Amino acid sequence: MIIFKQAAALGKYLEQQGSMQRKTGFIPTMGALHEGHLTLVKEAQKHIDITVCSIFVNPTQFNDPNDYKKYPKTLDKDICQLEKVGTDVLFLPSVDEMYPQGMHQLEHYDLGYLETILEGQFRPGHFQGVCQVMARLLQQVRPDQLFMGQKDYQQCMVVKWLLKYLKMDTKFVAVPTIREADGLAMSSRNMRLPEADRKKASAIYRALDHIRQHLAIGALAPLQAEAAGILEQAGFKIEYIALADADTLAPQDSWDGQQHLVALIAAFLGEVRLIDNMRMG
Ligand code: AMP
Repeated sequence: MIIFKQAAALGKYLEQQGSMQRKTGFIPTMGALHEGHLTLVKEAQKHIDITVCSIFVNPTQFNDPNDYKKYPKTLDKDICQLEKVGTDVLFLPSVDEMYPQGMHQLEHYDLGYLETILEGQFRPGHFQGVCQVMARLLQQVRPDQLFMGQKDYQQCMVVKWLLKYLKMDTKFVAVPTIREADGLAMSSRNMRLPEADRKKASAIYRALDHIRQHLAIGALAPLQAEAAGILEQAGFKIEYIALADADTLAPQDSWDGQQHLVALIAAFLGEVRLIDNMRMG
């Protein structure tokens, strides 16, 4: 695995590879890698010639400075894991490399309603930060294909929008969520859960699965209330339990028996904020 810290050197290397008709797949991450991230790499390897992974904890996407400060960092272990699965290139930029002019007066993206609902509503500025860093990374790597996890469902929609906005013909590949044995979606933030909370955390999966199993034509509020009960019993403090159109993310309050839906949850267990989702209908 070749490690680059400078975008210019990475760009030069990838340009050479491109001139030899090698296709590039890009997997952006914030590190503290787990099997979910490695699955993205393995998925990319099925489709393209060169896998480029990045690790960069992007300060501009954290609406909570404490969350940024406490974001887990396990770089040595991450490098070993990436080597083991045969990643070709790792991009490890510094904050200065990504934001040479500083982080004030950064670009603003007109994301419309995507920024006012769900994660956009509860994490103001988060998707602006996601777009600011992803625009830079995409222009530096210029991948043929981009691999991201369905675990961050709304982020996938935002980045698909960004690719169109940047007029890039990069193919977007959404990879299904990898879960622990008890259903908990793998996440770097799980490392911050104390042992006792880790056991309770699978309630988020059970709540989603309850909605999926009991989905019926008509009002959705009773199902949301039942899911809230499951989460509260496990000690979660809920931010949202939403049912939305799976293609547009428009929130729904009833189901016609036909529409594809996605259920999405964000909730705190202690001071750790977890999100998850499940498609249904
Ligand atoms: P992060 O490091 O949390 O920013 O995640 C980097 C990429 O990995 C994003 O595209 C995430 O959606 C994806 N990802 C995170 N957790 C999982 C998971 N459990 N299964 C599949 N993909 C994931």
